[in-house]
Amino acid sequence: MTLSKKNIALLGSTGSIGRSSIEVIEALADRCRLVAATSHTNAGLLAQQARRLHIPRVALTNPALVDQLENDLHGTDTEVLAGPEQLEAFACDPDIDILIVAVVGAAALPAVLAAARAGKTIAIANKEALVVAGSLVMPLAKKHNATILPVDSEHSAILQAMHAGEPDEVEKIIITCSGGPFRDTPGKQLAHVSLQDALDHPTWSMGPKITIDSASLMNKALEIIEARWLFDLDADRIEVLIHPESIIHSLVEFRDGSVIAQLSEPDMKLPIQYALTYPQRLPGPAKRLNMQQLGRLTFLPPDTERFPALALGFDVARRDGTAGAVFNAANEAAVDAFRAEKIPFTGIAELVGDCLRKHEWIENPDLQQLLDADSWARQQIAAHVNATSQHART
Ligand code: NAD
Ligand code: MG
Repeated sequence: MTLSKKNIALLGSTGSIGRSSIEVIEALADRCRLVAATSHTNAGLLAQQARRLHIPRVALTNPALVDQLENDLHGTDTEVLAGPEQLEAFACDPDIDILIVAVVGAAALPAVLAAARAGKTIAIANKEALVVAGSLVMPLAKKHNATILPVDSEHSAILQAMHAGEPDEVEKIIITCSGGPFRDTPGKQLAHVSLQDALDHPTWSMGPKITIDSASLMNKALEIIEARWLFDLDADRIEVLIHPESIIHSLVEFRDGSVIAQLSEPDMKLPIQYALTYPQRLPGPAKRLNMQQLGRLTFLPPDTERFPALALGFDVARRDGTAGAVFNAANEAAVDAFRAEKIPFTGIAELVGDCLRKHEWIENPDLQQLLDADSWARQQIAAHVNATSQHART
């Protein structure tokens, strides 16, 4: 029997997840084809990908460099588009069967909403869109029969483990966390760690924003909220466990006491492929696990004093409403400020916590209220950064 090939659009094809997705798509060439791809600014790599995979349509979401992309693709059949609105256009295009969302940040939200409304299969690596607007995305997906499949390794592990029982038999989920590069750094030193140290993750190779989030454990906080929406779980049924080797990607505990874990080498190609072939499993390019070589795995409780991000994540997952939008936007802006070396590393969680405390929370926000909460939080961080840098100059 020949299967009809699935048409895939890949948003953020030039990033870490995007590049791994391309490898998976090439390995699954008899099942799927890449028909659209986007990058924000990396015209060179996007052009290479378009030539190599004969992608019919590509878009640069930051239009400033589109001339370069057009030049690079001159003489090919690839159509070149530009502008942020192309994310949404690809997301709901009738030709697309599966959308991979590998864009970083809340910029992915309009595309995720459009794909949900169009009833697509959405392989979602981007966690920020769910953190901001899980309360809108999940019901919209349900209403329009869209399928949201996690690519984030922890959430893919939870989905895989969930297959061992029924949803109402799940007692809790346990999200594992490597602990990041500062797992053993004394609290007093955390204020002085450098950007370079924060970008040096011990087990995963990822884009810069998620790497810094992993160092502050903001990534785990975002993942708590992401899990809350993806699996419709209350915050008190979500736990975090430090597991430095990043081999167990998460666990599900069922009501009879059985705990089911998913293990593999830390390689995003596996969760990407699982989302593309779900519910089937196929041979693929992901690295294989050798338990004999590993010898042993270790586990520790999280240190919530050195890493206040975790408590913030649980708090937001309990509150819902506009809290996720504020949390995410404040974190995005604070990470930018840390990358610009305008605030210390510990300033990220401090500023996000301050923003959440000052915010006037709305219980059942619509999209506009979520976007307003996002803008408000970014302004708060900008005002703080400006005030402190002016203070430093005088
Ligand atoms: P990255 O920085 O390597 O790549 C980001 C991609 O998004 C690039 O293609 C870039 O061109 C594009 N992009 C950036 N800003 C954009 C904007 N404003 N509008 C449109 N496109 C934009 O990031 P990454 O590490 O691949 O992560 C992507 C997403 O996947 C993030 O949400 C991250 O949290 C999530 N994720 C990543 C990993 C990982 O291993 N890298 C694991 C789990 C989840
Ligand atoms: Mg993850």
